[in-house]
Amino acid sequence: MLNIVLFGPPGAGKGTQSTRLKEKYDLVHISTGDVFRALDPESELGKLAKSYSDKGNLVPDEVTIKILESEVTKHPDAKGVIYDGFPRTTAQAEALDEFLSEKGTSVAVMLSLVVPEDELKRRLISRAQTSGRKDDADPQIIQNRIDTYNNSTAPVADYYRAQGKLKEIDGVGTIDEITERIYSALEVYH
Ligand code: ADP
Repeated sequence: MLNIVLFGPPGAGKGTQSTRLKEKYDLVHISTGDVFRALDPESELGKLAKSYSDKGNLVPDEVTIKILESEVTKHPDAKGVIYDGFPRTTAQAEALDEFLSEKGTSVAVMLSLVVPEDELKRRLISRAQTSGRKDDADPQIIQNRIDTYNNSTAPVADYYRAQGKLKEIDGVGTIDEITERIYSALEVYH
């Protein structure tokens, strides 16, 4: 089973690239952000997730880890999984390692999309016009998401670096150029 963590700050292009990767390699794509947005907004869990995500804060680890595990469990025959937006804290990364090791598998690689902050802000502001996402619409919330990334999520790259699994990908360029960079980085896994 090929487990790929697609990593990067908000607006780095994880969702866009995941869609391409999933088709090329026949993988299951799990985006925790998408899963949270798809929850019934009237349910307890939906209200809880929204109370964090609308402000650009992380949903608590305990909830997020349970949701991720239940998504993975829905696909017992998957050839592999792209984890998009997870793990976002070191505790989540540890939980994923443990969960996968119980299944006799592990993370093969973390692909980290590297994009400068001013470019991220431009992309998120322009995405706000079509995404309808509350967390894209407000510059202060965007800044909070970037700060949360720098403080809580960036250390996750060190976690995988220490395991020799981190591959950085230049995330600036056309969508096709970045896809090609990712395909090259993944060549050794096929
Ligand atoms: P982006 O990467 O564009 O910020 P996502 O769609 O991945 O957006 O996530 C949207 C929101 O969902 C996050 O700001 C956060 O509140 C919540 N979220 C998504 N994934 C996680 C996670 N792994 N841990 C905690 N919260 C998460």
